[in-house]
Amino acid sequence: RIVVVGSLNADLTIYCERLPLPGETVHGKGFAVNPGGKSANQAVAASLLGGNVSLVGAVGVDANGDMLLSSAAGAGVDISGVRTSPTEATGVAVIAVDSDGENNIIISAGANGTLSPADVAVEAEAFDGAAVVCLCLEVSLDTVEAAARAGHDAGATVLLNLSPYAEIPQQLADLTDVLLVNAHEASLFLGSAEIPGSDADVRDWEAVRLRFAEWGLQRVLVTLGAHGSVVLDSLAPSGQQLVRVAPVKVKAVDTTGAGDAFTGAVAARLSAGAPLAGAAAFASVAAALATTRKGTQAAYPQVADVERVLAA
Ligand code: ADP
Repeated sequence: RIVVVGSLNADLTIYCERLPLPGETVHGKGFAVNPGGKSANQAVAASLLGGNVSLVGAVGVDANGDMLLSSAAGAGVDISGVRTSPTEATGVAVIAVDSDGENNIIISAGANGTLSPADVAVEAEAFDGAAVVCLCLEVSLDTVEAAARAGHDAGATVLLNLSPYAEIPQQLADLTDVLLVNAHEASLFLGSAEIPGSDADVRDWEAVRLRFAEWGLQRVLVTLGAHGSVVLDSLAPSGQQLVRVAPVKVKAVDTTGAGDAFTGAVAARLSAGAPLAGAAAFASVAAALATTRKGTQAAYPQVADVERVLAA
């Protein structure tokens, strides 16, 4: 089983020609309300890709909360660990997407801000026998750390998506088995601009692998948007510690939630026993397919869609 602990947000998306500059007003070309939130997205992606997923989180008592619960349940996610907050509204994300599929996002945490270590304790049973615990940083660090510890103690692989970026304490790094970052988050984490360019040789990532290893982060996936991803695995035999995962060529329409599709796909494959590089290759296809349709959860592929691309 995969336990996903974290956020659920209603995505309020406006499609526009180009993103507004500070102080500027632009005209949109359409508006949509969709289920989102990094953890809900990751849970849905993992479930559609064959994972047995339980989601732990919080929503408000409102229409957005109902929408989120029915979308997750409709994708096969066990939502019994999502509680309702009597006081806070469901979290929302206000998203602008331009004609290149680039986005800008503002989040109001709402009920997500009430998720606490006590919620993790209440759901202790869900962690029993879990293969993967999947976490991101849209809920409090205390909650993330409690979930990471519960996963670690249960013998699960703790997968941490360091997004949206925040500094993390060493204890959380110590509880993390696989760190997943995009290139921007990687450079924020390492406190420098030492991330190689997107077309760099894979050997140029050796210094980055060593920097993460200094934190005790031995297995790291770095996503590079349309350029694919890189696997930094200090636990692999020497010569196999750096793996470049080639990009999958698609016409991107909306990259919102591509990273979440990637994370959910990695969780699904790791829970099925796949090696890290294999999980990343599968996730690369799943995330690329997710960018070819508008929206997040509704755009996510099923296993058969990914297998069709892998077989071609
Ligand atoms: P985030 O969405 O977190 O910013 P990225 O932009 O790195 O993360 O995208 C995550 C993954 O989604 C990439 O590693 C890649 O597999 C896939 N992806 C994103 N954009 C594209 C694209 N334009 N074409 C193909 N794959 C993409």
